[in-house]
Amino acid sequence: MQDHVQDHVRDHVRDRAVSRRSERIRAAAPFRMLFDFLNTSGYQERRHEPGVCDLTFGDPHELQMPAYVDALREAAVPQDELWFAYKQSELTAQQAAATALRRVVPLDWTADDVRMTTGGFGAITVGMKAVADPGDEVVYTLPPWFLYEGIALEAGLVPVKVPARQPSFDLDLEAIAAAITPRTRIVVVNTPNNPSGRVYPPATLTALSSLLEQASARHGRRIWLISDEPYNRIVFEGVDFHSPAEFYPWTMLCYSYGKTLLAPGQRVGYLAIPPGLAEADELMEAVGTLQIAGGWLFPNAVMQYAVPRLEELSIDVPALQRKRDRLVDALREIGYRVNVPEGTFYLWPESPVPDDVSFVDDLARRGVLVMPGTLFETPGWFRICLTATAETIEAAIPRLREAYVHATAGQAVRS
Ligand code: PLP
Repeated sequence: MQDHVQDHVRDHVRDRAVSRRSERIRAAAPFRMLFDFLNTSGYQERRHEPGVCDLTFGDPHELQMPAYVDALREAAVPQDELWFAYKQSELTAQQAAATALRRVVPLDWTADDVRMTTGGFGAITVGMKAVADPGDEVVYTLPPWFLYEGIALEAGLVPVKVPARQPSFDLDLEAIAAAITPRTRIVVVNTPNNPSGRVYPPATLTALSSLLEQASARHGRRIWLISDEPYNRIVFEGVDFHSPAEFYPWTMLCYSYGKTLLAPGQRVGYLAIPPGLAEADELMEAVGTLQIAGGWLFPNAVMQYAVPRLEELSIDVPALQRKRDRLVDALREIGYRVNVPEGTFYLWPESPVPDDVSFVDDLARRGVLVMPGTLFETPGWFRICLTATAETIEAAIPRLREAYVHATAGQAVRS
């Protein structure tokens, strides 16, 4: 376009370039902070600097296991002319997912109860939209996975946040009950929990179930539970995982293969609803409709073909547990307060000073990258990710000690 024409357009078109929806999401605090952390904080450059210990995201730090690569390679070889045709949920993937899920969550899952999605992320997105309309409220616990808010806002829903009990980070059931209103349509539960590492026991899930039953009856409207459980196979020795789906039938179980296989860039997961649910047909039809209308939100064909083989694989959970034990012991010996995570690949220690952001900045100057609790709307804490190598974790320990000593010099340790 000629310059004078462009100037003319600029003078006369004063409307905003982007939608209010995108601006609303971008402006929401957790989203904005995450976006800035990822794109403008210098993190992308620093994580590759020699000697820097990157303990931020659940990303891989070593080459992927060969069996995973073989599974994808095999799945990429076409066996018929429709191999790369449009795909919704592939039956072989649904069957493999249902069979494996029976071992983790003891219900009689079949392929029919499962819909393949673009990771757990995609499952949560379509799950929320399948049951909730704009203006409906979605309740979740702080500290949350930092994208619940973005997903809820994008769907026009209203996030309602309930802090967990500190310092145990148990669910606060009384507070959840108090947060429920006639507009509540969804409660999200994440177990094993990112970032706290808590695995909620059956007693808590039973109480939550009766609370939701009573509230649904009181308001004459079903409250759905989204059970966000991508870490349900990353559970440490002596811990018994239970899914909310065992206790409350109106549960959408959202799973991602990105955690168990530490390959979050390869998008595949599923949404499953407990067998025998009366609303099943209606709900699954809604899920399929939203997957199509949302922009064909099905996992790629190759990822779906690979699922039966991927279900046989896992990251080395005992090795992860050794890293957890080493770091928990070291942090406690230094003086940090930290719970022992029961699952996931995160530690959630208390910041030695209330200002977690400045503490995390100081750690970054010392070459250790972690995430401040403020990013999880829970100041005073920080998150360490254990997917780094054992050597990286070892190298981080003296710097975690220096930062602790620096932060607490001349002041009383937090009581
Ligand atoms: N839920 C929780 C609690 C998570 O930690 C994550 C990823 O970090 C997700 C959902 C989304 O997982 P994915 O990106 O593999 O779909």
